[in-house]
Amino acid sequence: MWIVPEREIADLMTREAAFAAVENVFAAMARGDAYNFPVIREAIGHEDALYGFKGGFDRAGGALGLKAGGYWPHNLERRQIINHQSTVFLFDPDTGKAQAMVGGNLLTALRTAAASSVSIRHLARKDARILGMVGAGHQATFQLRAALEQRAFDKVIGWNLHPDMLPNLEKVAAEFGLPFEAVELEGLRAADVIITITSSFDAILMSEHVSDGTHIACMGTDTVGKQEVEPALIARATVFTDEVAQSVTLGECQHAVAAGTKAQADITELGAVINGTHAGRQSEAEVTLFDGTGVGLQDLAVAASVVDLAIEKGVAIEVDF
Ligand code: NAD
Repeated sequence: MWIVPEREIADLMTREAAFAAVENVFAAMARGDAYNFPVIREAIGHEDALYGFKGGFDRAGGALGLKAGGYWPHNLERRQIINHQSTVFLFDPDTGKAQAMVGGNLLTALRTAAASSVSIRHLARKDARILGMVGAGHQATFQLRAALEQRAFDKVIGWNLHPDMLPNLEKVAAEFGLPFEAVELEGLRAADVIITITSSFDAILMSEHVSDGTHIACMGTDTVGKQEVEPALIARATVFTDEVAQSVTLGECQHAVAAGTKAQADITELGAVINGTHAGRQSEAEVTLFDGTGVGLQDLAVAASVVDLAIEKGVAIEVDF
C-alpha cells in the first residue's frame, strides 16, 4: 500500500493533471462507466464538526474508494491547522485490498477548480474576455487560477460579501498580469464567465445580474440548504452538472427543482458534452450554467493520478499492509 502525505501534494499535482483526471471521470460517469455512492455527512456532536464520506467506482479508470473528511470549525483558532480536513483511500477493484492513502486537502481545491474549468472549456463562449468572481475565500483563488487558463481573459471583476477578502482575487489576477476590479453585483453584467464560490445560504446572484451569453459555474453549493443563485436564473439557463442526483438534492439546483422552475429532466451531465452526446452551448446568446456539486469520483480520480506521480518521483511511502 502507498501513502502520499499531504505535504507532498503541492509539488506533485499540476492543474493540467487535475483537469485531465476530472474531465475523464466526468466522461466516464456520463457513459455509465463510473458511479458515485450515496454521500454520508454527519454532524458528529463533537468539536461542532461535520464528517462524512464520498465514494465511488470508476470501472474505466480502475479507481475504487472514498474520501473521508469534513469541516472542523475550530481547528485554525485552537490548533493552527486548517478547518477542512480530508483523506482519500483507494482500493484495488480486483481484490478489495487497500491500495493507497492520500492527503486530500489540497486535492479537494484542485479537483473543485478543475471541475469549473472543465465546464468553462466546454461551455463558455470562445470569445469570453471578462471573468467575474462571486466569492473570495480559500477555494476562490484556486478557481480563478484554473479558469484563467481556459480562455484569453483580459480582465477579472469580483464581488464578495466581505470586501476585505477581495485582494485575494486581485493577487491571483496580478499573477496572470491581469487587472482586477471590485464591482457591485450589477457590475457582473459585464462578465462573460461567472464563478460563484461562497458558503452562502441565500441567493446572491440574480438573473438580472447576468447578461445573455454568459457561462456560470456555481461551485459553492455542496450541502442541503446552501444557495448562491436565484431559481429564476436556473430556469433561464441551460443547466449542466457533475451528477444530476446530487444537483437536485444538495447542489444549486435543489431550490429551482423544489420550486418547480427547473425540471430534473432538463439538467444534463457535463460528461455528455465531453463525450459529444450533447451539443453543449448552442447559441452565442444562451446562458449556460454548471452546477458543480463535488462528487467522490473527482477525489478518486485526482488521488489516483497523484499516486502515479508520487511513485514515479519516488516520494510515495510504501507500507506492507
Ligand atoms: P471560505 O470560508 O474560505 O470562504 C467563504 C466565502 O464565502 C468567502 O468569499 C465569504 O466572504 C463568503 N461568504 C461567507 N458567508 C457568506 C454569506 N452568508 N453570503 C455570501 N457570501 C458568504 O470557504 P471556501 O473554502 O472558499 O469554500 C467556499 C464554498 O465552496 C463552501 O460552501 C464550500 O463548502 C464549497 N466547496 C464546494 C466544493 C464543490 O466541489 N462544489 C468543494 C469545496 C468547497
